[in-house]
Amino acid sequence: MNLADFIIDNMESILQDWQEYANSLPPGKRMNKTELRDHAKVMLQSIVKDLMAPQSVIQEVNKSKGQVEYLGKYSKVLDETAGQHAIGRFDSGFSIQNLVSEFRALRASVLRLWEKSPQDAQLSDLNEISRFNEAIDQALAESVDVYANQKERNIRLFETVLLSSPDHNYILDLEGKFLYANKALADQCGNEAQQMLGKKIIEFGLVEVAEMEQAIDKVIQEKAAVRGEVRYRSQVGKTNFYEYILTPILDPEGKVEAIAGTERDVTERKSWEDAVWHRANYDHLTELPNRSLFRDRLEQQIKNAERTGKLVALFFIDLDKFKEANDSLGHEAGDNLLQQAATRISSCVRQNDTVARIGGDEFTVILTEFDQISHVKRIANKMIKELAKPFQVYGNKVSISGSIGISLIPQDAVNSEDLISNADQAMYAAKNEGRNQFRFFSLVAEKE
Ligand code: GH3
Ligand code: MG
Repeated sequence: MNLADFIIDNMESILQDWQEYANSLPPGKRMNKTELRDHAKVMLQSIVKDLMAPQSVIQEVNKSKGQVEYLGKYSKVLDETAGQHAIGRFDSGFSIQNLVSEFRALRASVLRLWEKSPQDAQLSDLNEISRFNEAIDQALAESVDVYANQKERNIRLFETVLLSSPDHNYILDLEGKFLYANKALADQCGNEAQQMLGKKIIEFGLVEVAEMEQAIDKVIQEKAAVRGEVRYRSQVGKTNFYEYILTPILDPEGKVEAIAGTERDVTERKSWEDAVWHRANYDHLTELPNRSLFRDRLEQQIKNAERTGKLVALFFIDLDKFKEANDSLGHEAGDNLLQQAATRISSCVRQNDTVARIGGDEFTVILTEFDQISHVKRIANKMIKELAKPFQVYGNKVSISGSIGISLIPQDAVNSEDLISNADQAMYAAKNEGRNQFRFFSLVAEKE
């Protein structure tokens, strides 16, 4: 019996061997019988047809010189089938080593069965074995070629996706050095992607360096993704906000071998959020904090005072006879007057003190970081003086003044509600006593 007939007679056993071997490879475990056998039968059939085709003398001579010229009429079918097989295995997740070992196993399984067959079979033409080996080599070479092309194509596709992505994509080693950086990140860092390799991510204009280093450590320690937000400062000084997610890349043993990072530019969203926050917390006419931000700051300062034991003073200021000026000059001039009054009130306090507009012609001031009541008095006096100076409003000289009520923490109140209400009460006392003056709540309360 020749080898070709032997393969035909034992086709099922050979295919069974091939199927079992493919099934033993990790990606093969998920595959069914048809998928496992894939193109094996067609490949074997075309090998058989080639083995049966006569070989010319020249071909034999060439072969004896080691010049493989195995180009029988069925080799085209074999090439195509081997190529299709490679694509199928690539798609099923076979590595190139898996693919090569599958062909080796096929060769071994045919030759083992062939050896086990009766003596007369083994005595058949040795040339056949070498032709069989060549056919397997050819199928393998074709398969590897197609597989490599497929892989290269996939890498190219992924690279294009990463290259054209507006997001930062990168891979870091365990020391936080770049193994890969895409174009968007390189552009942000003012570098060529290639030049960034081997350098640390924190070297490239990152603002939150310590946070990023901690995040990298956390991904390695906990083998879990970490999200956060960082800023990058470009070489021209522009700061952009990025939301990042760092994900561990695990090796087959489950150890972290690298870290994949993606960062999305959220600068626009941030500035929109800031604008919304600003609108909700600032008075659009004077650009001073509004009632809501004033309340937040007051709560915060009261908490600080509890901790530090320092004093907090709250001024409640209402402009005197503002309505008159407003009515005679018009609303627009009234607005301008309010803006100028706001500027004058602010000019009397320090940077860290809060001046807010809480309504029509009502303002508040939170004074902090002082030890002596004399500091509060000095500021109140200055404010009364400033507000009583004439204003120039659209070419008109306008005189108004202010009445101020003052309450203190901890003397007059321990919470914001009482503090505000006491300052308000003191302000009314100042109004009632002739306006253009300030009153401490403690003195007002004493009188009552
Ligand atoms: P008093 O001395 O008792 O405080 O009297 P007043 O004239 O200042 O009157 P009051 O404080 O009660 O009223 C403030 C006025 O401010 C009422 C309103 O017509 C005016 N007003 C409130 N909001 C605005 C604003 O946004 N722009 C302008 N131009 N006027 C405002
Ligand atoms: Mg008023």
